[in-house]
Amino acid sequence: MPNDAASWVCPHGQDARRGCVTCYEEASEAAPGTPSWEVAAWFTAPRPIPIRTLQDVHRHGRSFAIDQPSTPLVYLLTGRTSAPDSVQAVAGVVGFLLHNRHVVTGFTVTETRATLLPRTDTGGARTTDTWLDDTP
Ligand SMILES: [Zn+2]
Repeated sequence: MPNDAASWVCPHGQDARRGCVTCYEEASEAAPGTPSWEVAAWFTAPRPIPIRTLQDVHRHGRSFAIDQPSTPLVYLLTGRTSAPDSVQAVAGVVGFLLHNRHVVTGFTVTETRATLLPRTDTGGARTTDTWLDDTP
């Protein structure tokens, strides 16, 4: 997988790992036939996110969720999105955090995974695993 920053830039010039609000918004009005992705993004937060906030995320209705694995201040954001490629898929899902800056006040994405969901007429799925270089 790409390690250079350029390969992580979405069409709007944002680093996918930092999120892109435009990608996030475009995903909701993606053209029919746009590939669907299941994205997971692990991120760290500077301070704990209240349980109530995590629960509220589930009410957003776009199959996004933030879960807390066992490690303190480490969270897992998962979501389904539509995007032409995996970089835009990651940018869109991480963009959800930017879009909700009032609840998630800061984050650093440490690892992402984007899985191409199978189309209804085929069974194949392609998985991309990415471990980031700049993990603190
Ligand atoms: Zn973008």
